[in-house]
Amino acid sequence: MPETETRHARDRQQPSGRWSSRRQWHPDGAGAGRWRPQLDPGTGQPFTEVLDLTPAEADAGLEEIRKNYHPDRLPPAAERAGLLLAMAALVEEHADDLGELDALCTGKLRAHATGTAQAGAAILRYYAGLLDTDTYTEELKADQPGARQFVDRLPVGLAACILPWNFPLSQGCARLAMLFAAGCAGVFKGSELAQPPLLALAELAAEVGLPPWAFCVVTGGGEIGQVLTESPLVDAICFTGGISTGIAVAQAAARSLKRVILELGGKTPFAVFADADLDAALDVALGAGFGFQGQACNAGSLLLVEQAVYPDFAARFAARASDLRIGYQLSAQTEIGPMISAAQRDRVGSLVDAALAGGARLRAGGSAAADGGGFFYRPTVLSDVPADTPLASEEVFGPVVNLRSFSNETEVISSVNDSPYGLAATVWTSSAERVDRMRATLRTGQLYVNTHGQVPRNTPWGGFRLSGVGRLYGRDGLFAFTEARQTYELGFR
Ligand code: NDP
Repeated sequence: MPETETRHARDRQQPSGRWSSRRQWHPDGAGAGRWRPQLDPGTGQPFTEVLDLTPAEADAGLEEIRKNYHPDRLPPAAERAGLLLAMAALVEEHADDLGELDALCTGKLRAHATGTAQAGAAILRYYAGLLDTDTYTEELKADQPGARQFVDRLPVGLAACILPWNFPLSQGCARLAMLFAAGCAGVFKGSELAQPPLLALAELAAEVGLPPWAFCVVTGGGEIGQVLTESPLVDAICFTGGISTGIAVAQAAARSLKRVILELGGKTPFAVFADADLDAALDVALGAGFGFQGQACNAGSLLLVEQAVYPDFAARFAARASDLRIGYQLSAQTEIGPMISAAQRDRVGSLVDAALAGGARLRAGGSAAADGGGFFYRPTVLSDVPADTPLASEEVFGPVVNLRSFSNETEVISSVNDSPYGLAATVWTSSAERVDRMRATLRTGQLYVNTHGQVPRNTPWGGFRLSGVGRLYGRDGLFAFTEARQTYELGFR
């Protein structure tokens, strides 16, 4: 397992700013004194430290990338595919260690975290495969005799990927795969809450021999993200995170008209019709609401159940939620780990308290758990949540499920389409006709039918309305990092 660029490396000689062999930007002198603790959310204790850059230092890193990166002198496609495959192999080889590091930083259960590393490897392989196809050049039927028309996909340039704290491994691998397959340079900024997993990936990229411009990490807080969005050296921003940050990013990027891709939050309705396989729906709804403590963008936090089966389903759901085992994320018995931070746990507590004060009914949980220093909150189920409380409309991003009954399809459709969010919707039913109607009507980037949560690497992923702009994954993900150039040619036919 490679080491991350943490405090143990601070005493090395750094005569000037440079990209270290581990692909982390190192300023000279001034930078060496600033270290940000990385907390283990399961204990609340720091376990390592990560260098904090100043904006000027991050800027210097961008200049260095630009010196090395020439979009018209890329390694050939076969070589780029080989490098992505080698990266995939290394990520897979280190999946357990990467997973443990991710779990330590984010509070994910170990198996889940390891799964995200494996998913990252699979995505790297998928884009290596696309490099071997004619995706990049398309010849169209020309509109006059003697003419030829082509569409070529050229790299957009230097892409800055700003990541949230929750899935650094899969998202880091996915963005690397897409941008490198597209021929872009990539600079990455992880969340200050979980930087080591991204640094570990960057070390693997260096070990594989990816070009020095392909996976570079700048460390620090939101102000470093701001440097990336504002810098004229950056051509595209691929941002994943909260809606208000996404809007600030889009505004800053607009000043230099950068390409912007935004993958933002949501409040996914999980609708169970009376004709569904109710036992299976219950199992999956528990995972959708409480998996990773509800801290996934597509968490099924609004559980809608058809009136005829609501009383029984709601009671069983609340009982199962109460039984979930809370504990340290690296323990094999744990079902509910810690939340990412004390601040986030307290924010969730305030949302729940406000809903209860407004008249909501508490069916399970509703408080922080005794924690030995970790940031735990009990799996919480509420019903009768008043529409004017924030919990009814805001993304909670915690282990809280809002239960509601519905009496017909129209109510489900308006819960989805009238929401300001449009990331995902989930429908459980045995009626194929109903599924057809839902597919024709629901306006979300993802629609899950009798399942929940998949992020397939070969199909576009993104959101409607406030949940985002643009699409990643599949061919769309590659195109997100390219400019289309049309050629109209005469004289060769
Ligand atoms: P944030 O929006 O708080 O942060 C996201 C990233 O933006 C972090 O790296 C953060 O840095 C950085 N940042 C903060 N301020 C700025 C700024 N002014 N300019 C540029 N960058 C900035 O999100 P969270 O990390 O809390 O992640 C949770 C959110 O991410 C949820 O809303 C979730 O739904 C969403 N998400 C969406 C996904 C999707 O595919 N649609 C997938 C996963 C998560 P720092 O943390 O260091 O301050």
